[in-house]
Amino acid sequence: MSTGTGAWAPNVFSPEGLTASTVTDAGAALAAEAARFAALGWMPGTAGNLSITLDRDPLRLAVTASGLDKGELTASDIVLVDGNGDWTGSGAGADDGLTESLGLARKPSAEAGLHARIARVTGAGAGIHVHALAAVRAGRAWPEGVVLHDLEMLKGIGHSAHGERVVIPVVQNHQDMRVLGDAFERVYTGRTDSVGEVPALIVADHGIYAWGADLRQARWHLELTEALLQIALATR
Ligand SMILES: [Zn+2]
Repeated sequence: MSTGTGAWAPNVFSPEGLTASTVTDAGAALAAEAARFAALGWMPGTAGNLSITLDRDPLRLAVTASGLDKGELTASDIVLVDGNGDWTGSGAGADDGLTESLGLARKPSAEAGLHARIARVTGAGAGIHVHALAAVRAGRAWPEGVVLHDLEMLKGIGHSAHGERVVIPVVQNHQDMRVLGDAFERVYTGRTDSVGEVPALIVADHGIYAWGADLRQARWHLELTEALLQIALATR
């Protein structure tokens, strides 16, 4: 199902869109958040990336820059990307000037493409991608999706602690973000009147993406999903 919630307020992080201060604030927030997950061991080496949605029309995200240690990012170690996850600059109004004046990076991770797709489809204000162990193990154990039910922590990702069957979707790994994005849209469960959104995606033999209305909610969705996956693995 691929309804897209569209329910979250646009530009939660930056209601005024792309400005020097919102971009700088986003960079600082992403650096702090990346350090948290690097410390957890979920971003080994230069793995993983995080994003904040800065503008909706046109879609603009701040994504952590490629090839850097996620425990050592600064506020300028971000890249401005468009709805395809490509660096945006020339011909895009103020973007180019901001990259120049704020000394931002210009090389996004290839995975920025999936961040952008998730932001577009789900309406997320922030997304986090890490290489956490339980997600990889669960993706191998249940390649058709991880079924969870009757667990208190399901409430933390917007579902019932009792009597609801929740599936954390799994897609096969791929280096082409359009292929991954299409696979994501096929398995995404958007919010309806009767069903809550599932705000996470396992990429098999790779890691996990989680998202939310803002960076803090994305963090909670990520940490809770990883904990739920640990329980599923421990109790199977
Ligand atoms: Zn990755």
